[in-house]
Amino acid sequence: MGDLKRLHRLLMDIDDMLAGCMRCGMCQSVCPVFARTLNEGDVARGKIALLEGLSHQMISDAEGVKCKLDKCLLCGSCSASCPSGVKATDIFLKARAALTEYTGLSPVKKAIFRGTLTHPELFNRLVDMGSKFQGIMTKKANAYHGTSCAPMLSSILGNRQIVPLASKPFRKSHPSMDTPAGKSGLKVAFYPGCLVDKMYTGIGEAVLKVMKHHGVGVFLPANQACCGMPALASGDTKSFEKLVDLNLNCFSGKGFDVLVTPCATCTATLKKVWPMMAENLDMKRRREIDALSAKVMDINQFLVDKVGVRPKDGAEGRAVTFHDPCHLGKSLGVFSQPRTLIQASGRYHIKEMQDANTCCGSGGSFNLQHYETSTQIGQKKRDNIVATQAEIVATGCPACMMQLTDMLASKGDKVRVKHSIELYAETL
Ligand code: SF4
Ligand code: SF4
Repeated sequence: MGDLKRLHRLLMDIDDMLAGCMRCGMCQSVCPVFARTLNEGDVARGKIALLEGLSHQMISDAEGVKCKLDKCLLCGSCSASCPSGVKATDIFLKARAALTEYTGLSPVKKAIFRGTLTHPELFNRLVDMGSKFQGIMTKKANAYHGTSCAPMLSSILGNRQIVPLASKPFRKSHPSMDTPAGKSGLKVAFYPGCLVDKMYTGIGEAVLKVMKHHGVGVFLPANQACCGMPALASGDTKSFEKLVDLNLNCFSGKGFDVLVTPCATCTATLKKVWPMMAENLDMKRRREIDALSAKVMDINQFLVDKVGVRPKDGAEGRAVTFHDPCHLGKSLGVFSQPRTLIQASGRYHIKEMQDANTCCGSGGSFNLQHYETSTQIGQKKRDNIVATQAEIVATGCPACMMQLTDMLASKGDKVRVKHSIELYAETL
């Protein structure tokens, strides 16, 4: 058992948050997992019922409760459509934290989160090594999408088509940066996030190109760490808090107007999850987190709402369909800005897919634990993309890009997967 005081606080918080649910079942119709399994235990209402009297449940069957809670994408579809304003994903994150506090973290997760992720230098070195030797473990799968599969790791990765690690991570090309505000009068802090640093370096380059074009100064500090979501989703609050601290040391109190990220999950984590989990920290830490979170903005939103990028009237050009990442649309209400950005040059026009804002089925560790369900949800998204006959599917989250690439590549579809900032940058 971990820290009893922390466990008690978490249980009290959860009890308070559960009280809002009136069991109306509205969340059922929007839950992507329920749509596949038709199991009431998979929907928010079922999970909330399970969490009532969590302290008793923990004693009788902690692992069982954990298992049921893990069958969730943390997509926020339930929270976004709840008429009572129940913050289901916040409840689930706190419940996962309470359960892990009670049962302890598995040795594998301890090694990953406490032994590696919270030590950015070591984490970076290990990933750099992985990038050098990935050719030994993988074989090329789809030349159009540039994906590989890893038969030797099939017990963990199944037959996924994976995006390779970058040969040179973004932070090695740009270890740090501090340029003054130009013609825009604005200066941003840039948080690329792990996937942009280690896999999708082109997104990071696109951000820098766009900032330079608009005369926006960039503060890019060295030693940035993971946003903490992978650790928190596994209930590891200790690693989560350490990662928050590492990032606060990089950004807190430094001179910039906005902190931008091109990763929807990082944006939602820094902006909403950090303050939510800080509720029980000391006042000084809370203030620091609140001050930084208030400055966090998605890159699309920054360019449209702050810099003033506008769509070109009557944009024609090549067809692009846009997938709304759950952490961008449902969590942060950012829907129109990426579409505006894509249509700003006139070189592309948006062709909407059906259900553009439904989850792609990625869900971080959900994809690893429940690949079959994740793929069923992802294939529906793939069908909707292909039906538009667009040449490109754009989105605003590297995690969604990985899932969309897997879904399209496995079917041999010739639809490019891009980040909206990449499409905008190439037109400048
Ligand atoms: S979480 Fe919200 S939508 Fe779902 S049953 Fe409770 S009140 Fe209804
Ligand atoms: S977060 Fe998503 S997957 Fe989880 S219960 Fe809510 S709607 Fe279902």
